[in-house]
Amino acid sequence: MAGPANVGGSRILLRKLREIMETGGAAQERLDRLVHMVASTMVADVCSIYLTRGAVHELFATEGLKSEAVHRTRLKHGEGLVGLVAETAQPLNIADAPHHERFSYRPETGEDPYNAFLGVPIVRSERTFGVLVVQNRASRVYGDDEVEALQTIAMVLAEMVASGAFGDLSGLAEVEARASRPEFLQGRAFSDGLAIGTVVLHEPHAPLGRVIADDPVREEERLNAALLQVRKTLEEMLEGDPGRISGVSREVLEMFLMLANDPSWETKLKHGVRAGLSADAAVERVRGEHRAKFNNTRDPYLRERLHDLEDLDNRLLRALAGVDGAPAQELPADAVLVARELGPAELLDYGAERLKGLALEEGGATAHAAIVARALGIPMVGLLPGLLSRVEAGDAIVVDGERGEVRLRPEDAVTAAYRQRLELRTARAAEFARLKDTPAVTRDGARVALLLNAGLALDAHHLDDAGAEGIGLFRTEFQFMVSETLPRLESQTLLYRDVLETAGERPVTFRTLDLGGDKVLPYVTAEREENPALGWRAVRIGLDRPALLRYQLRALISAAAGRRLRVMFPLVTMVSEFDAARALVDRELEWARVRNHQLPAHVEIGVMVEAPALAFSIPDLKGKADFISIGTNDLMQYFFAADRGNARVSDRYDILSPPALRLLKRVRENADAASIQVSICGEAAGKPLEALAFVALGYRRLSMPASGIGPVKRLLLSADASAAGAVLQPMLSSGVSSIRGELTSIAAKQGWAL
Ligand code: PEP
Ligand code: MG
Repeated sequence: MAGPANVGGSRILLRKLREIMETGGAAQERLDRLVHMVASTMVADVCSIYLTRGAVHELFATEGLKSEAVHRTRLKHGEGLVGLVAETAQPLNIADAPHHERFSYRPETGEDPYNAFLGVPIVRSERTFGVLVVQNRASRVYGDDEVEALQTIAMVLAEMVASGAFGDLSGLAEVEARASRPEFLQGRAFSDGLAIGTVVLHEPHAPLGRVIADDPVREEERLNAALLQVRKTLEEMLEGDPGRISGVSREVLEMFLMLANDPSWETKLKHGVRAGLSADAAVERVRGEHRAKFNNTRDPYLRERLHDLEDLDNRLLRALAGVDGAPAQELPADAVLVARELGPAELLDYGAERLKGLALEEGGATAHAAIVARALGIPMVGLLPGLLSRVEAGDAIVVDGERGEVRLRPEDAVTAAYRQRLELRTARAAEFARLKDTPAVTRDGARVALLLNAGLALDAHHLDDAGAEGIGLFRTEFQFMVSETLPRLESQTLLYRDVLETAGERPVTFRTLDLGGDKVLPYVTAEREENPALGWRAVRIGLDRPALLRYQLRALISAAAGRRLRVMFPLVTMVSEFDAARALVDRELEWARVRNHQLPAHVEIGVMVEAPALAFSIPDLKGKADFISIGTNDLMQYFFAADRGNARVSDRYDILSPPALRLLKRVRENADAASIQVSICGEAAGKPLEALAFVALGYRRLSMPASGIGPVKRLLLSADASAAGAVLQPMLSSGVSSIRGELTSIAAKQGWAL
């Protein structure tokens, strides 16, 4: 075209486009004029619009191809170059279309002589409505400015389709402009709970009706104001105390600020505005470029930077929407956040009070956001492919964190059913809250200590809410997993001290770093291992590279100055490993002593029993370990040779089976004989029936997620431990594969509150 290479050219194009759209007339006529105008302005031999209608991409208008082909040429999903553009949602710019492997020849179009092909997706809100194409006889690649101009037109076109501007076009009813039907998506549950609410998009979109600007000067002012606001917010965050609350490190904020001040970013944005786009649309277009580059980049460093840039684009869009850079100020009261992916720090920025639920399309790093979601008590479902292309801000949504399901725009009857479930949950929660100060004592007088599994300072408030008697397992690696860089000594100390202060008189058992296996750090590139669960993880790393472990012990000792300190080591397999780990504690205590630091008042060192080999070595721990805690998650995965994270095998065995229960009975007896305090801290301890079985085997300390404490206590208060033991005992030597059925029926018969 005469001038798509410059801003003036783009503006002329947008103005002409606007004239066509505003002069009215039948929709088909306007589309015809549009392709004619684009072809002539861009000096293209062909310009065509394909819209996606059900399972096909249908030619809706063309200049240059045979007019008989309109509404007749239909390409199946994925078929031809048009299908490729729609599938990838990326521009395709090639000089020799007929020789492309995906080229699909349609004689009715008469497209034989065209070599150059440029197709761009017609997308809005992650949804592809179709493809806009220009073609030329000459074999050439289109320039960047031409691609940009065509993308801008596609953006306007998408907006018009979405807003119903072509309402009278036959066949358009089947072009799904805005998802409106109820949809059901099955994903994976990452945090328990149920939320019924309204969709808020983490990655916002330019509002409908705001793609072409009336007044470029005003748009530039809006853009400048929003840029200023984003930069100011970042500066304020830097001046504050990054890291303390959200785990966003100073380095990351500095990088953000640097990118936000990068003139090329600003120039690109202004380029769009001066070309006639609204400020919002200009940002959205730049974000599209960043995302496309991100998808095509393998280099982890570059991907990280592109992700940061996209994050900045999102902040800017929110600022333009009048919501300031701290993302959550104007959320609806029942906000459910929908995002492609969310870092733990971003989730913390929204805050617990503002979010009812969380649904993520991807799942790469979701485990880390999940840790925070659980600590905040926000229901979360992840691994929901296609989610973003099916929702709009403001849609009704249900997030079912029990079953890992999401429902979009549910029918009234479905919402009503979920409301009932929610009420039931609320009623149960109220019942558990009434029990929180009641000690867990079975009807026959067995007193059981119920403790909390925690990992973030945020979790500590569950101590009071749930009525836990202490923290039986504090997973220190969580701080490392939700931070963007390795936490320094001071921030480790700060966290441990916070937790000890919140716990007050109640005991806290800190577990040293349990990294490796499924627990990966975003900022450490680990060597790939064939079998990570059996690999270099947990205390094995700590003993081979003692610097990190010693640092952590130093932080723990300093945080517990003048108080009781309980520390345990994960995945110890041999007693000699425990000896070596314990020696490191002694060394660090000595280190603090010679420097006249105040020491903990009392130090207890324990070990997790997670490896079968250690489960058979309890007598050898006599006089060495002050306590042991059984991690049934790992112990059972190794005992039954079934990966705990693999749903196909993790449910194949039952912990309530004779071999597992015999093992647990033996460990408890050996621990008693060696006078070592023993507890169970795997997830199973938080399930009522399992907990009852453990109590029947003689366990009196159980540590579990906060959500387990109420239900477990309710059952124990109503049950009889020796009666349960009498059922269980003879079955331990039977050949059944599970005693679950027997135990359930005795509970039902006796009226125990299961
Ligand atoms: C366990 O393995 O049972 C345990 C409590 O540790 P984690 O789940 O953190 O591996
Ligand atoms: Mg474990």
